[in-house]
Amino acid sequence: MNGGPVGELALTGGEPVLGSLAPVDWPRTTDADRAAVLSVLDSNVLVSDRTAEQTAVERLEGSWARYLGVRRCVGVSNGTTAIELALLAHGVGPGDEVVVPALTFVATAMAVVHVGATPVYADVDPVTFTMTAQSLAAEITERTKAVIPVHLHGLSADMGALMEVARRHGCVVIEDAAQAQGARYLGVPSGAYGNTATFSLQMTKNLPTCGEGGLVVTDDERVADRIVQLRQFGETIRADRPRRYVSHRVGFNAKLNNVQAAYTSSQLERFDAYHAARRSNVAAFLSRLGHLEGLTCPSEPDGYEHAWHILRFVVDFDGLFPGVDTATARGVLMRALRAEGLPATRYQMMPLPEQPALRSLCRQTPASWPVAQQVIDRSFTLQQRHLAPDAGPLLQSFADVMEKVWAHLKVLEELADGAGR
Ligand SMILES: *Cc1c(COP(=O)(O)O)cnc(C)c1O
Repeated sequence: MNGGPVGELALTGGEPVLGSLAPVDWPRTTDADRAAVLSVLDSNVLVSDRTAEQTAVERLEGSWARYLGVRRCVGVSNGTTAIELALLAHGVGPGDEVVVPALTFVATAMAVVHVGATPVYADVDPVTFTMTAQSLAAEITERTKAVIPVHLHGLSADMGALMEVARRHGCVVIEDAAQAQGARYLGVPSGAYGNTATFSLQMTKNLPTCGEGGLVVTDDERVADRIVQLRQFGETIRADRPRRYVSHRVGFNAKLNNVQAAYTSSQLERFDAYHAARRSNVAAFLSRLGHLEGLTCPSEPDGYEHAWHILRFVVDFDGLFPGVDTATARGVLMRALRAEGLPATRYQMMPLPEQPALRSLCRQTPASWPVAQQVIDRSFTLQQRHLAPDAGPLLQSFADVMEKVWAHLKVLEELADGAGR
């Protein structure tokens, strides 16, 4: 049902543009995905340590390494474990500092804490939302052992500049590409630029599995071999002999299973088509929003290919609603959007170091991440609904919603004024 841009806001009793909040329709499971999963079940080769013949995990590892153009890929239990094992394989541990962005999912820093190292937070860029070379350089000390740039929302960090800073200081670069399957930086796929990179296959990500999973990629054979050991109790597993149950290091049980690998391999067959469809759907959506006052749409800088995992819209609340506090203005705007059927959300309620679990471990003050705080305060996000290849019409409805809501900014200002007083 399309109320058109002139009808009354659903928030104040008008007809909503969409009948209800658009549901999540991701991941898309096809008959091919079902057949892939069933064939693993029928084979009874369910976990990754059976090596008599090539397993589904090995097949996925091979295809993803080829897709990125890297030497090695190791399947692990999830994207958080992927970061932990990458850190351990690079020798990061107690006494080391690891620089992570102040705006990302909590797992990026938790992985650092899990290996006994200390996360240090670098501020992000106000336009790309990723760590910058300057913010990284500002946080490097003689204890910095590694840097984890996060390609947040599907846009690569400025890898050339970050690698240069890291090289100068002898730090390892581990890309957290959990949100960036399909992204590119100067033609290089995200995950193929740093020393090592990690991906999540969690079902909300661009390349999903039917549950939880992760991948680590690297050109460094020794790092890859260590991760293979670490994911299975520190054992060396070889295809040409039975498992010996000898542990060479203290490892984990962090294996990916064959059902989940087969599902992802099947998804990978359609990945490029989905990526291309998403790019054209999102471009058509954003092209309708350029004229909305005080709104900054997410963008794709020259030389970057965005994977559009999450769409973040920055709003000039001070300009649109002068004198109203930002949280009130944001709340009213998001309620108005949601009432019309656009599921506006926030991505991260606070900068990462201000998470209750992490606060006491941090030696920095909020003066170190002013931009991350501003971005969180002044934006809303759209997640998952746009990931499916046929989400184009839905995104057009979202554009209708935004045009309608923006045509009623005066009403919102009155509501915000009332709420703020
Ligand atoms: C999802 C995500 C992770 C963690 O991946 P899981 O598979 O959920 O453990 C890490 N970093 C970022 C940026 C993510 O979005």
